[in-house]
Amino acid sequence: MTHSSAAPLVTPLAAFSLAAYLDGPDYPRLAARLRRLNGCAQPIRLRGRVEHRDPLTGEQLHRYTTAHEPGGVLRVACKTRRASRCPACAETYRADTYQLIRAGLVGGKGVPDSVTSHPAAFVTLTAPSFGPVHTRREKNGHVQPCHPRRNAGSCPHGRPASCTARHNTDDARLGEPLCPDCYDYAGSVLFNALAPELWRRFILALRRRVAKAAGLTLAELNAAATLSFAKVAEYQRRGIVHFHAVIRLDGPDGPTSPPPSWATYDALAEAITQAVPAVSVTTPDAPVVPSRRLTWGTQLDVRPITTSGDLTDQAVAGYIAKYATKAAECLGTLDRRIGPADNLNALPVTPHARRLIAECLRLGSLDGLAALRLTEWAHMLGFRGHFSTKSRRYSTTLGALRQARITHNQQQHETSTGRLPLTPEDQVLVIAHWSYAGRGLTPGESILSAALSGYPVRLYDPSSSPQGRSTCPNSS
Ligand SMILES: [Zn+2]
Ligand SMILES: [Zn+2]
Ligand SMILES: [Zn+2]
Repeated sequence: MTHSSAAPLVTPLAAFSLAAYLDGPDYPRLAARLRRLNGCAQPIRLRGRVEHRDPLTGEQLHRYTTAHEPGGVLRVACKTRRASRCPACAETYRADTYQLIRAGLVGGKGVPDSVTSHPAAFVTLTAPSFGPVHTRREKNGHVQPCHPRRNAGSCPHGRPASCTARHNTDDARLGEPLCPDCYDYAGSVLFNALAPELWRRFILALRRRVAKAAGLTLAELNAAATLSFAKVAEYQRRGIVHFHAVIRLDGPDGPTSPPPSWATYDALAEAITQAVPAVSVTTPDAPVVPSRRLTWGTQLDVRPITTSGDLTDQAVAGYIAKYATKAAECLGTLDRRIGPADNLNALPVTPHARRLIAECLRLGSLDGLAALRLTEWAHMLGFRGHFSTKSRRYSTTLGALRQARITHNQQQHETSTGRLPLTPEDQVLVIAHWSYAGRGLTPGESILSAALSGYPVRLYDPSSSPQGRSTCPNSS
């Protein structure tokens, strides 16, 4: 578990407000409420009431109002995926993603254990090169020189076309181009913008290859087997997304049915290896930016997932879950949208990220490229896809896991308050009135919440938080 935060900041005001809570009559209730937020640093505050009525008689069966909550508001966890915004909620998201990926590999959450015998591949799809960047490579435990090229001379901008440095892991140059003026910024952000489409085409091509290898038509394949996947997007240091995915072959009814005999790991791996170079996407035509064809990079990694050995299902679930909470801000850009009021030169980002953002804004203003919405997604360096997605048949859903937790919490709450839980079969009329009452916790509540959850204190400051590029889970 990665707990990261700004240094604890206990101001006299915070200490005073904390003391007031501890001595106040609301303390036990407040502590119980904060405990249920599990350390969320920026909960949503809601004011309102809910009434459950019998639809026939109109009789009020149950009534809840936030008026009796400490401070008159209900605090709801923010549920963000991003560790830089809320470490506690990102940890919940990571744990849920882990469960979801794991269920698709070893069973559980409604998926039978027999799924372990279905062929599954762990695949990494990368982007092509848009120019050399400073990198750290290791070979047999030794760090290799970055870009050694004998007699390489210099580029048209007078910068050396070679780098013999052996970069440390924390070297600020990592991911920065050898020459920013030679680097293909347009290609980089266009790739990010079109990567989800390239993925979609890859899956279509993969289904066709699998069918062809088995001597089936696509319709016959759909009747005989299911191809399902779960994937996450990860930003490389150079500011380009790549994908890690679990791809699995099942029988016609998904994970509950055995795959046909021809559906082996080798057949799946072969189809993946053929489908990756076979797909491309052409960028829209725009003034001064002629359309171009984008493909996956040549670096493709396809490995079998097994119950023991090098790449176990546990390890894969762990990797994917870790990637799922990383985002663009981990490589020095922002975790919020960039608006007209922003001064690009004043943003707290790396020079490379600044140029990638500038390129998104430049291309985003061109007519032909409007559909890519590069201006809106400039802070994501052009990528507007989902960080983790899966096909319908892969396993359970994040929504189902959340609902299971909510139901569990409600049952605990209702047991502790002696109230009978309402079942879905009960015919009740629910009348709810909610209004937004702000975000975050008071300084005293923050300290209390940190003490109860074990997460470090994070004082929420609405004026500075949008600038936040505080911390990331350990980048690789
Ligand atoms: Zn949160
Ligand atoms: Zn270098
Ligand atoms: Zn150059």
